Amino acid sequence: MDAYIYQSDLYCPTCANKRRLELDADYPSSLQGIEYDSDKYPQGPFPDGGGEADSFQYCAQCRVFLGNELTVDGIQYEVEHLPDIEMLRMTSENITDAGPESCWYDDEGEPLQPGYYYRYCTPGCLPDSDPYGPYPDYAILCQHIIDENWPEEGATY
Ligand SMILES: [Zn+2]
Repeated sequence: MDAYIYQSDLYCPTCANKRRLELDADYPSSLQGIEYDSDKYPQGPFPDGGGEADSFQYCAQCRVFLGNELTVDGIQYEVEHLPDIEMLRMTSENITDAGPESCWYDDEGEPLQPGYYYRYCTPGCLPDSDPYGPYPDYAILCQHIIDENWPEEGATY
């Protein structure tokens, strides 16, 4: 959705328009609509939630997700701040050490391939799912995790 900038924060169209109406009420009519200082008046619209950013952008007022895309750094930042996800880099040796009774062996008793994995954990970090993977590198691992955990545009967080 469109985003508006006001006093260094991003706002959704609904909250930005509300704020504009409030300001318009005691604003000189000669300046209405032509005040270009975002400290004084919500500026926008900027498409796609304000564009690519280093984190997910939410409306400062109502916390709706504005639907922006993430930079490569932003993907890693958001993945590392997801609660209850554990990321692991497993070597063949790690998998052998874990043993055939562990989740690192499949139903046929064959060891899983080495690589990057993730799994969901309960709060407190006991594994709560089988590992997903392997992924060849950390960036691809992060991309898969963030795809599974992308916030819904228009939903409140
Ligand atoms: Zn809002």
